[in-house]
Amino acid sequence: MFQSFLIKYAEIGIKGKNRFIFEDALVRHIVRTLKKVDGTFKVTKEMGRIFVFTEGDFDYEGTIEALKTVFGISGICPVQILEDEGFEHLSAAVADYMKAMYGDEKKTFKVAARRANKKYPLDTMELNMELGGVILDACPNLTVDVHNPDIYMTVEVRDKIYLYSEIIPGPGGMPVGTNGSAMLLLSGGIDSPVAGYMVSKRGVRIDAVYFHAPPYTSERAKQKVVDLAKEVAVYTGPIRLHVVNFTDIQLAIYEKCPHEELTIIMRRYMMKIAQHFAEETGALSLITGESIGQVASQTMHSLYCTDAATTIPVFRPCIGMDKEEIVTLSKKIGTYETSILPFEDCCTIFVAKHPVTKPVLKTIERSEKKLADVIDDLMKTALETTEVIHVEG
Ligand code: ATP
Ligand code: MG
Repeated sequence: MFQSFLIKYAEIGIKGKNRFIFEDALVRHIVRTLKKVDGTFKVTKEMGRIFVFTEGDFDYEGTIEALKTVFGISGICPVQILEDEGFEHLSAAVADYMKAMYGDEKKTFKVAARRANKKYPLDTMELNMELGGVILDACPNLTVDVHNPDIYMTVEVRDKIYLYSEIIPGPGGMPVGTNGSAMLLLSGGIDSPVAGYMVSKRGVRIDAVYFHAPPYTSERAKQKVVDLAKEVAVYTGPIRLHVVNFTDIQLAIYEKCPHEELTIIMRRYMMKIAQHFAEETGALSLITGESIGQVASQTMHSLYCTDAATTIPVFRPCIGMDKEEIVTLSKKIGTYETSILPFEDCCTIFVAKHPVTKPVLKTIERSEKKLADVIDDLMKTALETTEVIHVEG
C-alpha cells in the first residue's frame, strides 16, 4: 500500500545554519542502512523534509526495521503521495486510504490538513471538515474525536498531496558523526554495549577497545565481543575494534600489587590504553558501561581512582541506571542475548576475594610504583600487538 516514507527528525540543537549538516548526514545514514534491505531506494531531501522512495517490490517490514536503527530519525511515516488532480480525486483517495488501513476497526479519527500550497481552493478548515465527512461516509466504523483521536489522518497539500496516519517511532537522537567520535571500552557484558549505543545516539561515532587475556580468556570470548560490536554497529555504523593483549599486564599486576587492589589497578591501565587509542584515532572521550555501586570497582571511591588514570573525559551513560533498566535497554537494542552467553571475561579471572571498595588514590599509586621496572615495556608491547578488527553491522 505504501511506496514512500516521510522521515521525521528531531530538530533540537540543530537550528540555524548547521541544519544542512545534520540533514545530509541523516540522508547518508539512511542510504547506508537501506543497502541491507531488499529493494531499490531513493532518499531525498526536499523542502526541509526527508523522503525515502522505493521502486517496484521491496521488503516493507525490513525497511521499517532498518529505519528504526538510524539515529536522528524520530518517526517513520509510511506515506501515500498523490498528484493534485482536484478535490474529488483527493476525496476518493482519502476514502480508499482509510478503508484499506482501518477496515472495520471501531476507532476515532481526526483529519489534520496542512496547506503549504496556499492556492489550493479549500483552506485548512474546509479541508478538515470536508474530508472528515468523506471518511464518515466511507467508513461507518469510524467516528470523529478532535481532542484525543485514535487516528490522526494527516493530509499535506503541497506541490503534491501527502497522506499519512501512522508515525512509527524511530530511535531519536542525532545522526552518527555529527558530534565527533569516542572510544568505547567494550567488554562481553551487558552494560558496555548499551553505553556505546547511548552515546552514539547523540551523534557520536564509535570505535572500541577490548582487553583480551589469552589463554585465560578464550577465542570464543573474543568472538563474543566481535559479535557484540557487530550488533552495536547496526546503529553506530562501522566500528574499529582494538583487541589488546592484556595478559602480561594483568600477570604483572597480579604478581606485584596487593590482591585487593587488582581490579582497580587493572582498570586504570585499561583506561590509559584506551586513551592511547582514542588519541590515535582522534576520539575525544572514552565510554564505559560503569554504574555507581554495581560492583566493588564501581563505587564512588573506585570511580574516582579509575577516572584519575586518564586526562580525557570518560562518559558513563549507565551511571545512574539500575541493572534492570540496563537489561531492558539491551533487550530493546538486541545485544542482550549475546551479552549473556557464558564466556569468561578478563576481569573475572584475576579477581580478589575481598576487593577494596574504598580505594585511596595515593595508596593505589604507591602500589603501582611496584610495576615501575616492567610496565613501560609491557604497555609498549600491548599497544604494538593490538589487533584492529573492522566490524560492520
Ligand atoms: P559490562 O559492564 O559490559 O556489562 P561488566 O559489568 O562485567 O561488563 P565491569 O567488569 O564491571 O564490566 O567493567 C566495567 C566497565 O569496564 C565495562 O562496562 C566496560 O566498559 C569496561 N571493561 C571491563 N572489562 C573490559 C574488557 N575486558 N575490555 C574492555 N572493556 C572492559
Ligand atoms: Mg558492568
